[in-house]
Formats: sequence, C-alpha cells, structure tokens
Amino acid sequence: MAKKRVRSRFAPSPTGQLHIGGVRTALYAELLARQADGDFLLRIEDTDQSRFVPGATENLCRTLKRLGIVPNEGVWTDDNDQIIQRGDFGPYIQSQRKEKHQAYAKQLVDMGKAYYCFCSEERLEQMRQQQEITKQPTGYDGTCRKIDPAEAQKRVEAGEQYVIRLKLPKEGSVTVEDVIRGKVTFDWKLIDDQVILKRDGMATYHLASMADDHDMGITHVTRAEEWLPSTPKHIFIYEAMGWELPIFAHLPQLVNADRSKLSKRQGDVSAESYLEKGYLPEALINFLALLGWNPKADQEIYSHDELVELFDLSKINKAGAFFNTEKLNWFNNHYLRQKPVDEYFALVEPHLPDDEKDIDFKRRVALLFRERLNLPSEIKDLSSFMFESTLDYSKVNLTWKDHIKEEALERLKAAKAWIESMNESLVLDVKTTEETIKNKIKDNGWGNGDTLWPLRVALSAQEKSPSPFELMAAYGQKRTIKRIDDALAYLVK
Ligand code: GLU
Repeated sequence: MAKKRVRSRFAPSPTGQLHIGGVRTALYAELLARQADGDFLLRIEDTDQSRFVPGATENLCRTLKRLGIVPNEGVWTDDNDQIIQRGDFGPYIQSQRKEKHQAYAKQLVDMGKAYYCFCSEERLEQMRQQQEITKQPTGYDGTCRKIDPAEAQKRVEAGEQYVIRLKLPKEGSVTVEDVIRGKVTFDWKLIDDQVILKRDGMATYHLASMADDHDMGITHVTRAEEWLPSTPKHIFIYEAMGWELPIFAHLPQLVNADRSKLSKRQGDVSAESYLEKGYLPEALINFLALLGWNPKADQEIYSHDELVELFDLSKINKAGAFFNTEKLNWFNNHYLRQKPVDEYFALVEPHLPDDEKDIDFKRRVALLFRERLNLPSEIKDLSSFMFESTLDYSKVNLTWKDHIKEEALERLKAAKAWIESMNESLVLDVKTTEETIKNKIKDNGWGNGDTLWPLRVALSAQEKSPSPFELMAAYGQKRTIKRIDDALAYLVK
C-alpha cells in the first residue's frame, strides 16, 4: 500500500496571544510534516464564540511568521495582515464549517451514537450542586439519554432548545494508542456524555476538531496532553463514523522548576512577549524543540533545518518539560554571538543612548559586550558608564590595594603619556594596546596589577568591568584620555 502523505496541523483557538507552549506544539507539527515532505496546516478553532478575541488570528499568524513556522496550507495572513485561506480542504476557519458539523452530529444521532438533550442550564446547574453536596462525581445524569428517539425528534421539530450529546458506553474500557505514551486505558464509566453540538448550533471542540481532522486528511494529531483524557470520546466518534484514526501524540506540558504548569501567573508567557524582550527566533526554536526531546546526547545547537531532519515524535519524553529560562538565555546568548555584526548591532542599537551620535563608538561598545549579553536590552546597564560624560569615582578605589594615592597618580600620568604617544588606530586595536602598555609597565619596573587597576577604574569607575585594553579600544584615544584626566583631577582634589 502506498504510504499516506503526512498531513499535520496546528489548530489554535483565537482566544488571545499565542502561548509559548503553543509554539512548541506548532513547531513539532511543522517538523513532522516538513520531514516527510508533507503538509502543515493552520486551522483556526473558533467555535467557542464567547472566547473569541478580535485580532487574535492575525496576531497568531504574525507571531508564527516571525518565528519562521510557516504552514503551507490553511489560514494565513497576506502582506497586508489580512486573513487568507489556502488549500483544497477549506474552509480552515472552523466556525465556517458549522453546517458540516451539524450534519455529522445529526448522523451520529441517527446512528444511535448521540442523542438530543433538552435539559436546561438551570437543571444542569442544580444537578451539579446536588452532586457536589452528596459528594458524587459531577457529570450528566443521563436523563435525556432515555428519551425515545422518535419523541426526541418531535420535540426538536417543535422547536424545543437542545444540545447533542454523545451516547458513550457506560461499561468496559477503551485504550488510546499514543506515540509518546504508548497504550493508555480509560474506564468508560468515568467518562461523561460529552456535548458535541451546543444550543447555538456550533459544534464543541470534540466534534469539530475530529470532523475537520478527518475531512482535511490529517494523519498526525499533535496536541497538548490536556486532551488525552478526552481522546476516548474522540475515538468513539471516529469509530462511529467509520473513519480511520489518525496518529495521536499528546505533548507533555511545559512546567516550572517546581513542576507547576507554566501559566500566565508566572508573568507574560505569550510567544510575542519573548520576541519583544529580544529572544531571537532561532534561539526560541532551538530551545523549544529540545524541551522534552534531544536527538543527540552531545549536541545542543540545532538549526531549524537540522531539527526537521532529526525530528522523531516517538522520542519525546512523557514527563513535563522544564521551561528553564537560564537555558533559553544560554541559547539566546549563543545566537546573538553568531549574528553577523550588522545584524547584531541593529538589535542592540535601540538600547544605546540616542544622544550619542558617534555610531562607530556605539558599534565598538556593542561589540565589547557581545559575549556577555543574553538579551540585547542588557547592553544598556552594562555599558551605560561608557556614555556618561563624567564618571563618579567616589564609590570605587582608584588606588591599588595598599598603594598610596601618589602611586596611582604616577601610574595614571604615565598611562596617559603612553596612550598619547600611540596613534588612534593602535589604540582601537586591543592586542596592540595591550602589548604596548604591558611593555611600558615592564620598562618602568612596575607591576601589572598596580598600574592596570587605576587605569581600568579610571575608565569605568566600576569594581568589575572589561579589561582596560578592551575599554580603551572601545573608547578610542580621545575618550580614554578624557577619562584619565578626570580620574587624575579627582585624585588631586
Ligand atoms: N483548539 C484546540 C486548542 O487550542 C486545539 C487542540 C488540538 O490541537 O486539537 O487547544
């Protein structure tokens, strides 16, 4: 038999911003399809109209675009941010498939696999309260399950309000096959007769998503593990309709260090906020892909294309994946360092003072701190002293250990003379500066520490900073001399 074309999908609900965990779900589906030269679809699941947020779909597409997770079919936005739909299996916006869902629901009723339920909201609420008081499991009590189908049909025709529920088995068990978890068995008696069509005529997720996955020829359903307990109901629908089951993979949730779920309470967990903070798409992709899966024990850096090549759904860990921000920072630092200088500078520049007009100086400062940055914005605090017109030396010691002030003055005066004797291009070269200064120190019979300490503090007014040579190379000759003059003036005050 010819192998089926792999078709995977990402099926978010447009209820707000894309959660960072959703990016991983989307990414895995994309990797799966690209690896097999198949199709990756974006379907918008908007049947719960009460949770619909205007603009959420556009935002979702924008974020996926920025991350480079691009579906080749389904919903997308054009260059003007207008929603478009591409492909032969549309519509891909679920609410537009309402009639198809209704027809399937009706078919399930006709087959005796679902039933009309006329219970009012009030009655259901009373039932729930009663169940809580008597400490019984909450769930539908099956009142309308017993109504004769012909009578139910009459009530529907008479215009009575209804929902449609699945008529699930009440005994025995069902086994779900999951690529990540293997076989998972559920008792039917613990599963409620799920509503599949609501009073407003919209299908719930349970019917809409299964129907659409089937109609769109989806072969792999990769979704959050919170859907695993619902999978028996989904299998029931597939089997009742005689549809071929897709491959299910329930992805472990993202957790904090204490294993609690990564949720909005921990601050902004939207993918967009990570991008806004300055996390690079390639760092996010690399980091998220490796949450719960690593193709090789001794490698951590993977490009998106390498991930496509190596992806293996069955190797994903069952356990919750620790969302380790330090690790994410490490990836970001790595990718910032890899960037071509111009791109790197473009990321960092907005965080440097606007009123500094010397672009070459700004570039040198940006490069000086490059290795140390996890986020482009961190440059601001690290480098702010370099842009100050004068430094405050009152909180640091310009003199080395037990040296006296006169020694610091002597060393600084000498350093100034050495730098003045060099030309600008030599000062800008870290290696030459270092060599020249170290030779002069030796010639004078001084120590590196007692000379370089006052020099470094004169340039930074900080306990810790890059080396004086790096600082000089970033400042250039004029700025270096100005700093030394200021320090000298401070010392003789
Ligand atoms: N709309 C569902 C959600 O956002 C999709 C789950 C699925 O991928 O089937 O959770």
